[in-house]
Amino acid sequence: MDASHLLRRPELFRLLVETMNEGLGVRNAEGEIIYVNEPFCRLLGHRREEILGRQVEDFTQGESRDLLQEEFESRRQVLSSTYELELRRKDGQLMSTIISAMALHDEKDGQFLGSFAVITDITRRRQAEEELRRSEERFRLIFEQGPIGITVVDLDRRYCQVNPEVCRMLGYRRDELVGQRPWEFTLPEDRHIDEELAQQIFRGEIPYYQVEKRFQRKDGSILWGRLTATALKDRAGRPIYGIGLIEDSTARRRAEERLQHEALHDALTGLPNRTLFMDRLRHSLNRQTRHVDGQRPAVLFIDLDRFKVINDSLGHLVGDELLIEAGHRLRASVRPGDTLARLGGDEFAVLLEDIVEPGPAVRVAERVQRALAAPFLLQGREVYSSASIGIALSHRDTEQPQDLLRDADTAMYRAKAQGRASYAIFDARMHAQVVAQLRLETELRRAIEEDQLEVVYQPVVELASGGIVGYEALVRWLHPERGTLLPGEFIQTAEESGLIFPLGERVLQLACVQLAKWQRHRALPEPLFVSVNLSGRQLLQGNVVASITHCLHEHGLEGRHLMVEVTEKGLMAESEPTSTALDLLLQAGVRLALDDFGSGHSSLGLLQSFPFEQVKLDRWFVHGLGREKGAEELVAGLLALCRWRDMTTVAEGVENGLQAKHLKQLGCRLAQGNFFSPPLSAAAVGAQVEFPGEL
Ligand code: C2E
Ligand code: MG
Ligand code: MG
Repeated sequence: MDASHLLRRPELFRLLVETMNEGLGVRNAEGEIIYVNEPFCRLLGHRREEILGRQVEDFTQGESRDLLQEEFESRRQVLSSTYELELRRKDGQLMSTIISAMALHDEKDGQFLGSFAVITDITRRRQAEEELRRSEERFRLIFEQGPIGITVVDLDRRYCQVNPEVCRMLGYRRDELVGQRPWEFTLPEDRHIDEELAQQIFRGEIPYYQVEKRFQRKDGSILWGRLTATALKDRAGRPIYGIGLIEDSTARRRAEERLQHEALHDALTGLPNRTLFMDRLRHSLNRQTRHVDGQRPAVLFIDLDRFKVINDSLGHLVGDELLIEAGHRLRASVRPGDTLARLGGDEFAVLLEDIVEPGPAVRVAERVQRALAAPFLLQGREVYSSASIGIALSHRDTEQPQDLLRDADTAMYRAKAQGRASYAIFDARMHAQVVAQLRLETELRRAIEEDQLEVVYQPVVELASGGIVGYEALVRWLHPERGTLLPGEFIQTAEESGLIFPLGERVLQLACVQLAKWQRHRALPEPLFVSVNLSGRQLLQGNVVASITHCLHEHGLEGRHLMVEVTEKGLMAESEPTSTALDLLLQAGVRLALDDFGSGHSSLGLLQSFPFEQVKLDRWFVHGLGREKGAEELVAGLLALCRWRDMTTVAEGVENGLQAKHLKQLGCRLAQGNFFSPPLSAAAVGAQVEFPGEL
């Protein structure tokens, strides 16, 4: 069926007009609005009655009104035009519109009848355009003034745009950069960092990447930059530009480097510290396992002799200067590639790489010692120092750096024991000794806690009468596996580990308890004394006097019941605290004995400076009596010396009647030894002297 007749039906047009999206209005020749469709009303927010019969100008203002009038007038001559117009809605809001207007003329006489116009609201579109403009402006500002470098690279991989920050960072003008390849401004050593990544960006394989690398500025200096690179893609997802954001990280990088340096170096000498040393040693050991040509690292452990004395007596400033100067000299004694570190205090270490046999390590040790031999001029004074050096070479089973350092440390102690300014090379025997020593220490600690210590008593007799005047308390360790251990097997370890303090305390306690019992059961005209051995370290520690007096008091004993024996070696320090302690003991009425007299050196002076009541002649004098020529004269001389100082002599280690007779003849008053009695248990002492009761 032919539908063309439909087109001639006016209802159809009305329907079209009312359902279209745009507003439609018709004006007569006078400009009055004579028809508007529903969308027109919606656009203006007015009801139809409020619009019909009015001028369109009523809904405009200012320039728009003038424009509208002009346009309407021109309709008489110009058939149609399209223009933008701002209309005011009923609610007062302004609205951007596009008006397409067309004149209406009478078909017959061509008389101007008015016009009709289609009105489209473009407010949204205008807003979006404005927003876009602003956002572009913002981006332009960021690009021009932002604190981050922005580069755009074209498909040819050349800069096509760079912002001023990039120019500032790299020190080039914009025209010097545009057209160049980014790689030319990366430090050659760092080009590998993102060469491949940049390819992947352009191939669209990765969305972006971030790296930190060094750029080279125009003046040749280095700039650390963090680069974030990404690609700009077309609608099909093909990259068309590369975008690079560069952040100057030089300052942060420098700060990090400084912090890292500080963390790995000693502030005083500027040398590597222990952490860095251990790290280098670890690397070196790892390398060693890779190379099988026999080359291996060696460690020199260097400890300055007498540093503590210098530091304490001349002050810390001088001590610091000494360390700095020693650092310089050590640095000059090793090869540039060898690591010299300060481990702490007066301890230094050298890592020698690629050593095949001990020879070169020993030569370095000798060089170090020669370097330190010259006097140090510190604050106008000449100060002498030297070093004890331990050398350890890695062998196949030394894989841990701390093991090698420990071995060198052990050897250093060995060197110290040999006397100052010497060196020692670590060997496996030393290691076994150290392990045994540590084990002994652990066991001894437990022994003290678990009461495995016992005290035996050796009588001290008067040579003239044979009567007992006192007992020396001697410690014994009832070891659960090894049986009874003598002091020679553990006293030194106790001193070195500090266990001598609880041990000494325990012996003192046991001896006082025992002495108090004996005093209660046997009223002697001259009370028995018990002598207790004190080590030098105990005397150096301030509270030994307090603990002795407290112990005496606790058991109702007087000072004169207790004799304290100190060895020459213990007094060697001739230090302030030692003599103070001895003075305080004397004031408390405690009696003093000088033990092992003659076994060390410089003993005669001791007789002068301390008021000992007893002097105990070392075993080896007694041993020589009747065997070695001159022994008698020597002992006679010592006895005379003691008599002159009004001190009682006790001969130690008397093993036979002949020795006893000699001593008696020479005028020695007291003696001690297996000839009279070996050290006895407390119970045996009770039986020997026939104490009554439960003793
Ligand atoms: P000392 O004070 O000189 O003790 C004398 C040592 O000679 C004792 O050794 C004793 O058993 C031993 N002796 C006694 N008569 C004879 C003899 O006729 N011939 C021989 N050859 N030796 C004899 P001991 O008990 O092994 O003690 C050794 C050292 O250990 C002591 O030497 C003393 O310096 C130290 N000592 C013992 N007990 C203690 C203690 O409780 N504290 C401290 N700090 N040191 C102690
Ligand atoms: Mg003794
Ligand atoms: Mg002795």
